[in-house]
Amino acid sequence: MRVTDVMRIAVRCNPFGLACLRVSVLSMTGKLTISEWMIMKHASFTILAVLLLSVNCPKSEDSVFKVIVLGAGGGLDESNLSCYLISPANENRFVAMDAGSILSGIKKAERAGSFADVRDTELQGKSLTRFLMSRGIKAYLISHAHFDHTSGMIINSPDDGSKTIIGLQNTIDDLRDHVFNGRSWINFSNEGVAPINRYNLIRAVPGKPMPITDTSFQVTAFQLSHSNRGSTAFLLETDRQFVLYFGDTGPDQIEKSTSMQQVWNAIAPIIRENRLRGIFLEISYPDGRPDNQLNSHLTPKWFMTEMRNLAQTVDPKNPGRSLARLRIVVTHIKPSLEQGIDPREIVERQLRSQNDLNLRLEFAEQGKRINL
Ligand SMILES: [Zn+2]
Ligand SMILES: [Zn+2]
Repeated sequence: MRVTDVMRIAVRCNPFGLACLRVSVLSMTGKLTISEWMIMKHASFTILAVLLLSVNCPKSEDSVFKVIVLGAGGGLDESNLSCYLISPANENRFVAMDAGSILSGIKKAERAGSFADVRDTELQGKSLTRFLMSRGIKAYLISHAHFDHTSGMIINSPDDGSKTIIGLQNTIDDLRDHVFNGRSWINFSNEGVAPINRYNLIRAVPGKPMPITDTSFQVTAFQLSHSNRGSTAFLLETDRQFVLYFGDTGPDQIEKSTSMQQVWNAIAPIIRENRLRGIFLEISYPDGRPDNQLNSHLTPKWFMTEMRNLAQTVDPKNPGRSLARLRIVVTHIKPSLEQGIDPREIVERQLRSQNDLNLRLEFAEQGKRINL
């Protein structure tokens, strides 16, 4: 085997014109001659330098999904509530995972350059917001009907385009009966009294994949334990690659449930096959809050308990390494009104100190783009 067959160095440029270098070692198997070994030895310094240079390289070329965070918080601040736009990386056909904040998030993301790859031919002379509302966002996937996951969709509905709203039965029934009912709000749905038919309500069947109209996505919904009406995890798939988004959930042990474990059982084979690009999972409160005041949410301690359950499910023989480098995006941290207290900073510190699984942790931030 020739050294040139062993490695390939690719030079790529990021959107800002900074050279980023990436090394792909194609195969390290096989025997090398002494001369090849010497070349490898000298090349190793170059490779090390290249790797160091590439640490901050955005590898959007390799990503399957792009995620634009329109809202990351779990309450209080009405301008920053759970909403994550996800599209295949090379398209601008989004689905919204929850819809707590929309316009405030689009404005922030636009200023941050997170929509820089929306082309003029797609905008057709319209504003980015108009494009996204009328054609860019194809569906809302709503985890549960709590307002921190729905208020942006509701308040923007008079100027929204036609879309599907996908959720489990409780969620869709709650939207029909308590939101789009002609009393709390105008009935923009296609069910109930005097429907306007802007939103096509679709009840997902737990555990059963279904296509999302006008996208290349398939979605599978899983029931979660949260409050009295439950919540949902959505597993999105395109081109046999997956991303998993959790709505609000408590830990199985506190909820006296097996909901989280059932999700872990479903995704363990996907992780083993290295086809899960990332998990979005909530932490609402820092550690220290009593378990009887979690209100069906997670803390760093319970988050790691669930991650260890997942690790055990993926590889019972070697759970300590089974999730190494898996990308996990933390969502839904609730802000505090108390002077000088930043729950996000506290949660991040507590979680990193407990990360014995070597998870690749990220923290959702409104306006930011995440390439997965
Ligand atoms: Zn919530
Ligand atoms: Zn909730």
